Amino acid sequence: MRKVVKFGGSSLASAEQFKKVGRIIQADESRCYVVPSAPGKRNSSDTKVTDMLYSCYGAAIREKDFVKQLEEIRRRYVDIIEGLGLNLSLDKEFEIIRHNFGKKIGRSYAASRGEYLNGLIMAAYLGFQFVDAAEVVRFREDGSFDAETTNELLSARLDGMENAVVPGFYGTKEDGTIVTFSRGGSDITGSLVSLAVGADLYENWTDVSGFLVADPRIVPNPKSIETITYHELRELSYMGASVLHEDAIFPVRKAGIPINIRNTNAPEDKGTLIVESTCRQPKYTITGIAGTDGFVSVTVEKAMMNSEIGFCRKVLSVFEDNDISIEHMPSGIDTMTIFVHKDKFEEKEQKVIAGIHKAVDPDHIELESDLALIAIVGRGMRATRGTAGRIFSALAHANINVKMIDQGSSELNIIVGVHHADFKSAIRALYDIFVVTQL
Ligand code: ASP
Repeated sequence: MRKVVKFGGSSLASAEQFKKVGRIIQADESRCYVVPSAPGKRNSSDTKVTDMLYSCYGAAIREKDFVKQLEEIRRRYVDIIEGLGLNLSLDKEFEIIRHNFGKKIGRSYAASRGEYLNGLIMAAYLGFQFVDAAEVVRFREDGSFDAETTNELLSARLDGMENAVVPGFYGTKEDGTIVTFSRGGSDITGSLVSLAVGADLYENWTDVSGFLVADPRIVPNPKSIETITYHELRELSYMGASVLHEDAIFPVRKAGIPINIRNTNAPEDKGTLIVESTCRQPKYTITGIAGTDGFVSVTVEKAMMNSEIGFCRKVLSVFEDNDISIEHMPSGIDTMTIFVHKDKFEEKEQKVIAGIHKAVDPDHIELESDLALIAIVGRGMRATRGTAGRIFSALAHANINVKMIDQGSSELNIIVGVHHADFKSAIRALYDIFVVTQL
């Protein structure tokens, strides 16, 4: 059994946190490949080292004094090293970083130092080998990620290594230029290492005990999700539930490696297991509820539109020409409605309206803003009668008007659109009927 363990920034924010991580790794000898993030926040008013590095490099670029900021960053690491009682000096590393910042070597290089230095500390602390991600994670000349070459490099390098620390978040182009993934990208590195070593499990350690059935800012103390499929996760993440970087799913999913989200501060919790498929029935009919605010609906009305060939395509191409992504598209006989994100649509709305007029000469166009979409997701819905009925009766009892309904043909989710003002009470009503009362 071999596991890859990735630790997020809050799990490595201080020496105390490092010690918890050390105990977790030592408690299970199959935890042999470690992917660390940069030190995160020690408390809610703290700053992540990655953000400190971006800001410090920003000063270097503007030819402002950046040395003081760099010294604050160095202090963060020295505190960890001293707290762990390690005999390790990063002075030389900081000398190189200072020199490279002065040369304005690049923003990605700057950000990557957060994980690089944390990786050096982690390797020294655990007595594991350090493998610089710069040597094994590869990006193409145009900056896109090269999965194939990375997998070759990583598996060749880790082959026969009993243990290793590979810092997350960055890699290089062939010429050695550092490139980072998008924010939160250490999750992706963890997934790549899991694929390369053919791990049995990818443990992703963070500061929550996995995914929750609903957003805890809306529902107090929601239950956690024990097992979730990749499909369900995708539906929930799309609607805003975020614990894991979206791109972290693809490499392990292809290889059938499950991901276990765990909590560094509560290692006894089992967390959430993310799997390709499972015969484990979820505790409730639904696996999770997630929602996002800030949608606009554009309703286009034209008598006899159903018999006008190409009508939908012409309307949709107006959105495409304006570079606006479409989220949902319920339709009637003489109407079609397009849901879009308000922040992407707002500044182009008049152009879009004019474009639709020109394209299909509608009778009427109506915009409605301040809409929220809520996804009720669950593999259990397929086998259960009356799920839709329960959703709508719960919303009706809570006095909530449903503005849109969309059930995917996979029967994995039902999406309802409600007014912004009803957003939170709708989620509470749904949680209540499926989880609390289980009616
Ligand atoms: N340190 C990077 C960030 O803050 C990457 C990561 O933590 O995954 O986004």
